[in-house]
Amino acid sequence: MSVLDAEILVIGGGMAGVAAALSAVEAGRRVALVKRAPGATSMSTGAFDLAPHPRGWHLAKPDRDPTQLECLEALVRASPGHPYALIGRANEAEYLQEAFSFVLEKLEAGGLPHANFDPRDPGHHAVTSTGRLRRAASSQASHVLRDFNPDRARIGVVRLARCLGGLTGPPPMGGNVIEVDWPSSKNAPFLLPADIGKLLDEEGESRRFVEIVVAACKGRGFSHIVLPPVLGVFRTREILNELEEATRAVCCEALGGEASLPGIRLENALRRSLERAGVTVETGRTLDGAEVLERRGGPVVLASGRFIGGGVARRQGSMTETVFGLPIHDGESYLDDQPAEMLSCRSYRGPHSLFRAGLRVDDLLRPLDMGNRPLHETFFAAGSVIGGYDPHVDGCGLGVAVVTGYRAGRLAAGLEAS
Ligand SMILES: Cc1cc2nc3c(=O)[nH]c(=O)nc-3n(C[C@H](O)[C@H](O)[C@H](O)COP(=O)(O)OP(=O)(O)OC[C@H]3O[C@@H](n4cnc5c(N)ncnc54)[C@H](O)[C@@H]3O)c2cc1C
Repeated sequence: MSVLDAEILVIGGGMAGVAAALSAVEAGRRVALVKRAPGATSMSTGAFDLAPHPRGWHLAKPDRDPTQLECLEALVRASPGHPYALIGRANEAEYLQEAFSFVLEKLEAGGLPHANFDPRDPGHHAVTSTGRLRRAASSQASHVLRDFNPDRARIGVVRLARCLGGLTGPPPMGGNVIEVDWPSSKNAPFLLPADIGKLLDEEGESRRFVEIVVAACKGRGFSHIVLPPVLGVFRTREILNELEEATRAVCCEALGGEASLPGIRLENALRRSLERAGVTVETGRTLDGAEVLERRGGPVVLASGRFIGGGVARRQGSMTETVFGLPIHDGESYLDDQPAEMLSCRSYRGPHSLFRAGLRVDDLLRPLDMGNRPLHETFFAAGSVIGGYDPHVDGCGLGVAVVTGYRAGRLAAGLEAS
């Protein structure tokens, strides 16, 4: 049977598409998901960000960090075209909790435990790939800087010789750098975190690695040891446990940088969650809108991403959605045939229309035509194919994917109404 004949069809296999497929299958529907290739989800750092600190997590030194919900409310006030603003329910703590808990439980069942999410707390501490301290709404359990008290912590940061994309920059909170020469120089001269992760999935290699790190940290009195994000694709928890037992310190990985190993882990766990849930998956296929329109009457969730996923592109001088050729909007206006250089700004936090480019949707996540009418009652969009927000500057990439994906799947299954 063709995937096009499934009760619910999801186009796109990133975080948004998988969340949609899982929530629809949970409602007892027969779901198929078509995925051309890994998208932005597989490159992400491992942190799930819901909303940014109103003054920037890195810059702010408040007495009290705001809660995730307060950050989201500030984002919605400043950005009325944001998907969270359109979906009233995305502002409700209970709904956020429900959507995140659903997705994080599925990831844990797929072998990748994550930190608990609670919109009423500020999120947990993590260390970025450049060594900065920041908050995340959730992240893979191995990234959580547990029991962290800035006044008492004594941080050791492990740097691996020849690891490209490992921890760079000065260590957080005046910590100490520990240089570790592993793997030995007879291996390739430079390795990416993903290559090291694959090596560490072998038990013998990880045992040697733990011994070398323990020897380098011995007698230094560290309360916390931060490692580059290289601790295996599949054996992360075991390696971390061995390190904690041997060093008697809280150990964690930094978030992913380039060639993100946490992104690869997330991709694997999403695949396993789909398998466990019984979603029919077809990978390596690029769905064409004409084919879908010709063959289908039932609900469709479009979760094809943006420029990295391939859901939005510039074709023949115009910005367009690539599967159905829908018009592109930045939350304020349609972008039509404006040249790309007119859509970006010179300052990092300035209004880059280009990075807010996507579909315009209503509160039921239905893409709208230029006359503001939904294109179809059972055609929904989820994740970064929706416009009106910048996943990076607005610090909400995976947050939007989780909330809109979860909601789109439930809407497609007929479980939610406005
Ligand atoms: C380097 C980097 C770091 C990031 N770090 C963070 C972070 O720290 N925190 C955070 O919250 N967010 C982060 N993000 C943002 C976040 O990863 C994205 O916003 C989110 O993953 C988008 O998910 P998505 O499912 O909408 O799109 P994608 O993950 O891009 O998935 C789109 C999917 O659609 C498929 N597709 C497209 N067209 C078709 C077609 N015609 N037929 C079939 N399939 C198709 C693609 O192959 C892909 O599988 C980061 C992103 C990047 C690139």
